[in-house]
Amino acid sequence: MHELSIAYSVVSSATEALAGRKVAKVDSVLLRVGALSGIMEDPLQFCWGLATEGTLLAGSGLVIERVPVTIRCRPCGQDVALDGVQSFRCPRCGTPGLEVLKGRELEIVSLEIEEDGDDAHSGVATGDSEKERPAGG
Ligand SMILES: [Zn+2]
Repeated sequence: MHELSIAYSVVSSATEALAGRKVAKVDSVLLRVGALSGIMEDPLQFCWGLATEGTLLAGSGLVIERVPVTIRCRPCGQDVALDGVQSFRCPRCGTPGLEVLKGRELEIVSLEIEEDGDDAHSGVATGDSEKERPAGG
């Protein structure tokens, strides 16, 4: 299933992004999905539970922000968001074959986490938890 491999890759990217942080719990992951990416929301939500199982992201929610296809119409001189992916004509003037600006996104926008500010329960098993990053930078 296409969505399952996507879910796994999102989980792995998110896990990398959280490396070095004391994460008590991941509440949700905000994912930006373009209309042209071909990703179906329902199967992805279903696969999310499987892909996060046993990971740092277990129990987290997947929040999908859909990005409509946005095209640039030269005659109109404007960027226009389309309703669907069936037609690539400008809804204003009908010009076909427009330049696609947005709609292929598949990226993690943000992660809602609860950081563990208390050392008492840290159970990170990566063997790399001793390092302290200098403040600032
Ligand atoms: Zn136009």
